[in-house]
Amino acid sequence: MSLHAELHRHLGGSIVPRILWRFLMRKGHPLAEEYPDYQEFEAFFTRPRGSLAEYLELHTLVEHVQTLDALPYFVSKLIRGAYVFENLAYLEIRYTPYLRTDRALSESDRIAQMREVVQVIGKTARSAEYPIVTSQILCLHSRLSDRVNRAIVDLAGSEPEYVSGIDVAGGDTFYANRMDTLVELYKYALALGLKTTAHLYETQDGCYPQLLPYVCRIGHGIQIPLLHPELLPQLAARRQCLEVCPTTYIKTGTLQNIAQLRPVFERCFAAGVDIAICTDNAGLHDVRLPFEYENLLTHDVIDFAQLKSCQEAAFRHAFAWPHPMPPQAFLRSFSML
Ligand SMILES: [Zn+2]
Repeated sequence: MSLHAELHRHLGGSIVPRILWRFLMRKGHPLAEEYPDYQEFEAFFTRPRGSLAEYLELHTLVEHVQTLDALPYFVSKLIRGAYVFENLAYLEIRYTPYLRTDRALSESDRIAQMREVVQVIGKTARSAEYPIVTSQILCLHSRLSDRVNRAIVDLAGSEPEYVSGIDVAGGDTFYANRMDTLVELYKYALALGLKTTAHLYETQDGCYPQLLPYVCRIGHGIQIPLLHPELLPQLAARRQCLEVCPTTYIKTGTLQNIAQLRPVFERCFAAGVDIAICTDNAGLHDVRLPFEYENLLTHDVIDFAQLKSCQEAAFRHAFAWPHPMPPQAFLRSFSML
């Protein structure tokens, strides 16, 4: 059995449609009334969107139901599915903690409540029944205030037991006016000892070279090999890894077919830039990590040797994997006995 590391998965997008639909039905949510038939709900939930912006609206929908009291339900189901169906040994869960706080509270009280969100998720993710090493990445958000984003970095730095890094999400077109602040917050996060990743170079509108020197990994980054391959030697020198999430680009309309990822992998391999294959939103897409691997193989984007090197890169670039080797290395050493 092969054990996998998943480096890019949003808490909001990780909930499989059936788990979400059952929850909405139980709560009498308006969406459940609109889609009383599960098949119709699944078709609505997983259909491709016209743009990244439209796709992100679905995240907002899920964020609204992932309140503090509902988080143990969603996180425990996420961990169970990841263990049973995906063979994950390691999982980084990312989300914006502010968007899981009580919307009726003031901004200050919501900031204070973020710590509880982190702790509830951290404790629930530690399952004796379904043991996976987990770590959290807290996402700054391109449409939240500077005060909230700074508080998210502070929180990340003060919860080392549960949090290993930060990210920025929420739509890359909104970064442009805030790039100076983002660079400053990333420098601050690094000074606190945090790891960093950012949704960058996902779409043609999301190319911000100013932030590149401050990220350990790049969320997506596919437009670097596609449009700006001249940057690849810099990435290799900084040992930065791309988190490539194949199904996302089809769902957001960024690419038309998976085969278009072939030059991404070819150019990165040639330049010595590591790629970790990830799901981004395994629930929203209804595509779990092993199927992302299989899709790339069946579309001849990569071969088995390249898949293995991406799987090992995922453990190498993990922010909190507690061992110098991936679990496969242990198994290999035992199988040779
Ligand atoms: Zn993402």
